Amino acid sequence: MLSTITSGVIKGIEGQKVNIETCIGNGLPNFNIVGLASKSVIESRERIRSAIIHSGYDFPHGHITVNLSPASLNKNGSHLDLPIAIGVLSSTLVVNSRKAKAYAVIGELSLSGRIMPIDGVLPLIIAFREAGIKKVILPVRNVKEASMVEGISVIGVKKLEEAIVAINNELSEGDTFPIANYSSERIEECDYSDIKGQEYAKRALVVAAAGKHPLLMIGPPGCGKTMLAKRMPTILTPITNSELLETTIIHSVAGHLNKGSNNLINRPFRAPHHTISRAALLGGGVYPMPGELSLAHNGVLFLDEFCEFDSGQIEALRQPLEDHKIVISRQGITYEFPCRALVIMAANPCPCGFFGSESNECTCTAQEIARYRRRMSGPILDRIDLQLTMQEVRYEDLKFEKIGKDKVLDSETMSSMVSDAVRFSKLEGRDEKCGNISDKKIRDACLLGNLENKFLENAYDRLKLSPRSYIRTLKVARTIADIEQERKVSIEHLAEALGYRCSEYDIGKD
Ligand SMILES: [Zn+2]
Repeated sequence: MLSTITSGVIKGIEGQKVNIETCIGNGLPNFNIVGLASKSVIESRERIRSAIIHSGYDFPHGHITVNLSPASLNKNGSHLDLPIAIGVLSSTLVVNSRKAKAYAVIGELSLSGRIMPIDGVLPLIIAFREAGIKKVILPVRNVKEASMVEGISVIGVKKLEEAIVAINNELSEGDTFPIANYSSERIEECDYSDIKGQEYAKRALVVAAAGKHPLLMIGPPGCGKTMLAKRMPTILTPITNSELLETTIIHSVAGHLNKGSNNLINRPFRAPHHTISRAALLGGGVYPMPGELSLAHNGVLFLDEFCEFDSGQIEALRQPLEDHKIVISRQGITYEFPCRALVIMAANPCPCGFFGSESNECTCTAQEIARYRRRMSGPILDRIDLQLTMQEVRYEDLKFEKIGKDKVLDSETMSSMVSDAVRFSKLEGRDEKCGNISDKKIRDACLLGNLENKFLENAYDRLKLSPRSYIRTLKVARTIADIEQERKVSIEHLAEALGYRCSEYDIGKD
């Protein structure tokens, strides 16, 4: 007989409902899966056969045809194992096919009939809810992730047998299997007070956090670049529920949530190594998956040793830094991954790291330095709002604490500067962070007077700014004025913003 089971597939970061029709007819024993199924779905036949037999049920002998519809949609992923197995078993009346209609089913099967966790649960659950489905059967280790979505009942199962029992007894969430709760506790982190003597850099980090401005730190090894970047999540405004959902969807699709780890509870901090592949950084693959840039969505992306990244990857960052999304095309289908991350980069000033250092001598030749700097092209520097030149910490700076504790900025102070600035900007009617605001809006938002315009005009000629860096300077100045809670952008704000643009080393320009 014919049965239909509801399941779904992932397209980019969206879930789509799929119907699995199973028909068992007379004829030679055969097991076919049709409907644009990928190799991994076709391979599931052996797992399904073995799982059904090892769970103590008979595998039907007739001619089995499984059709995945709509046929126009590519179907990939081992999570279709369980729904196909349930489809086969409802065609043989082991599963009540009428009751099965109330459920969507997802899960991977092992040969013994155990149900393995899968990737991309969250977008699938959202798609099921939108399709009006009330109950989902899924691997027990995916329950925590799935229960983030309200308005749909999730039933976690460990074995094929449990899935059959759940359907035949019309179980709902909480009926038989324990459901873990989504935890919302915050993790304790390190603090900016751990770093002494980089107060100028901390100020720039506050500007970066308040306006979501990309930031580059250039300085010798050991000056604290990595420590400064790692503490960034301690000063960002708390993640909102909708941001958390957006980011968790991306992590879910990338398969970061099913390995027994906790759900995201904070803004993500991603720090990929410079040897990372282009696909892993930006996203890609035959069935496109989000890369590190998107995994950092609504959080921080830290690119240490920035000049060591492949020059193609550095160039490829240009578009996402402007548009905050990555677009990948595969076989006529366009996939879009959001990447609204705060990007922080760190680099040494030269291959040995000590060019311009006050305490160590640089051992690089002029050619080596020139080659090293060329990796960071003008166009990418143009898009980096804040460019800091840092020095090693001096002995006097370490004594700050003895002079007075208020001289060392700590995370609490910095974080309230950030949230005050964000609140001020919202009160002024600007919902977007200055780093993301449109070029037209920023001109109006700065409320520049004649003196300020004159000052900018001079700076534009003297510093040979590009039109893009001119606009970016305005954006940074607006954020600085927000931190100072001032409606009008003043010359001081503009001067500070320009100070963040003029890298002493003049990297990238020969
Ligand atoms: Zn050097």
